[in-house]
Amino acid sequence: MTSHAAIVAAETTTAPGGNPTPSVEQSESAYQQIGSSMPILADASNARQANSGQSLDAAKRGPEWMARFGCPVWCVMDHAGTDGEPGWHQGLPAEAIAPTPFCDADPGGDSAVVLAARVTQVNQDPKVFGVETRLWVDVDCETLELDVAQTDVFIARLETFLPQLRALRAQLAEASKDDVPENTEAKAAWLAAPAKAVAK
Ligand SMILES: [Zn+2]
Repeated sequence: MTSHAAIVAAETTTAPGGNPTPSVEQSESAYQQIGSSMPILADASNARQANSGQSLDAAKRGPEWMARFGCPVWCVMDHAGTDGEPGWHQGLPAEAIAPTPFCDADPGGDSAVVLAARVTQVNQDPKVFGVETRLWVDVDCETLELDVAQTDVFIARLETFLPQLRALRAQLAEASKDDVPENTEAKAAWLAAPAKAVAK
């Protein structure tokens, strides 16, 4: 009932609309508390909001909004708009973005999000289904749902990965020293006579 697949299905099929405009007078104190405890995420959120128009967090929307949709203060979902019904909530994301699109992406495509994570809470009908809060980590089309202990393990493994990545960077720098660009004339000749090239 609260599986990731079910939640995603709900997300893509519900867009209630018609709700009154939420109150924006508010509990800045709760927002400031969140912002000061997660400055890196707050900075990332500002950048995302500038790029995508992502909604405000629940603390900034105010207590009326939070009561109506059951939001924790850190939820940034627009339950009255495109993000669908209440019952699950997501916070600010962290993302690792590649410097280039994936190899099989369309030319001129966006840079690839290699790894993305955000806290997600499912609290629909808590007396029946309880409340479950996890870190959802998206890797390509797959999602991990981690508790705190599992997140610690994941962080430790990423911290092990980074020195390995730096070592590979050094290996790449050495191994690519003698790379040469393609010869455009020779390539054109090769393409003009593919059968001959293959026969060689
Ligand atoms: Zn929410």
